[in-house]
Amino acid sequence: MKDNQKYAKEMLDFIEKSPSCFHAVANVKRILEEQGFTELEESQDWTVEAGRGYYVTRNDSSIIAFRLPGSDDTDGVTGRENVDGFHMVAAHSDSPSFKIKESPESTVENHYVRLNTEKYGGMILSTWLDRALSVAGRVAVKEKGHIVTKLVNVDKDLLVIPNVAIHMNRDMNRGVEYNPQVDMLPLFADCSLGNKKSVLMKRVAKAAGVKQEEILGHDLYLYIRDKGRIWGENGEFLLSPRLDDLQCVFAAVKAFSGSMPEHYINVCAVFDNEEVGSGTKQGADSTFLEDTLWRIGESLKADRSKYLQWIAGSFLISADNAHAVHPNHPEKADPTNRPYLNGGIVIKYHGSQKYATDALSAARMKELCRQAGVPFQSYANRSDILGGSTLGNISTAHVSVSSVDIGLPQLAMHSAVETAGVKDTGYAVEALKVFYGE
Ligand code: ZN
Repeated sequence: MKDNQKYAKEMLDFIEKSPSCFHAVANVKRILEEQGFTELEESQDWTVEAGRGYYVTRNDSSIIAFRLPGSDDTDGVTGRENVDGFHMVAAHSDSPSFKIKESPESTVENHYVRLNTEKYGGMILSTWLDRALSVAGRVAVKEKGHIVTKLVNVDKDLLVIPNVAIHMNRDMNRGVEYNPQVDMLPLFADCSLGNKKSVLMKRVAKAAGVKQEEILGHDLYLYIRDKGRIWGENGEFLLSPRLDDLQCVFAAVKAFSGSMPEHYINVCAVFDNEEVGSGTKQGADSTFLEDTLWRIGESLKADRSKYLQWIAGSFLISADNAHAVHPNHPEKADPTNRPYLNGGIVIKYHGSQKYATDALSAARMKELCRQAGVPFQSYANRSDILGGSTLGNISTAHVSVSSVDIGLPQLAMHSAVETAGVKDTGYAVEALKVFYGE
């Protein structure tokens, strides 16, 4: 329990430092570099050594890291003969948010400046109202003749999306339909204080450490300023933005970064764009994983036959948060598969294979949990409710390996702040450590 508290606090700290997918990936890189991992570029040749760890990024928002088993010197170079396949965990770096559009500022009656935004992913809109918000992401700038990107976190209470007073809409508590182009635009500045237009990019430039006129492009998102916290009578719960899926990202990276595999190439993949269907060059539905695994094989001088033998012996754990039974709506959960907060790792099942779990992969996952001494539970959608999708079946369409979908139990998925159990992050770290230690 003590370790679980420690992991929970560390995880909340990781989330706070990751206001956008770009920051999440930068933080994963920092953790890996502290453990001696070396960056590889997709645009360069790769040279790898047995026992060492490496990582590669795509679009600064997805990252795949791997560690090779130590050499048994059977081939004198790589320890290739020692390899039985890939042990992979995948999670996602993005969370629902609002993306700031080009030319975002507009004035209202010459009194207010507000920003023009659009939805990124399927958030619960009302939860973004009346909260302090800020801006984070990246900008593209020209530096010494090259276009490069810079991380941006304005790190200031900067915006609020104000609700309409109940006196102006007496039906407010009977369910409101929010129009993202009308109801969800954040208030930014007061014109009477001399703020008119183009102030936002000036502030963004300052946060990025560049001149405003140097900014040629941007991927900027709103983020919730609320800090993650531990709460409840006995400190048993967590409340934080972006638990889906940075809680799993943290657990995977934590277990992976210190691992030293003996017979498998350990892989930790964090993909962007899960919240918008994964169909981007850096999403789970891209060639990123396939390309990276193939290039690892090439670097180890594995021929096609050897590589396919490795694929056949590989296993993927797709880790993306799961719905716990809701205290006010227990009827929304499946009648017999009922995960609870602090109840341990959730193994997800779906007859039509939106979740990649099958009998064999479930058995494998249960064994890992048993070896780690951590509890596990099961999730299935009610048969009359359509569930969400995740990474597992999308990645395995590209790299066809045995796969299990798991997650950590949480409430209020896709709310601006979500609730989880204080014990579950630690359970995931321990089970994934066993997996990565095989
Ligand atoms: Zn997710």
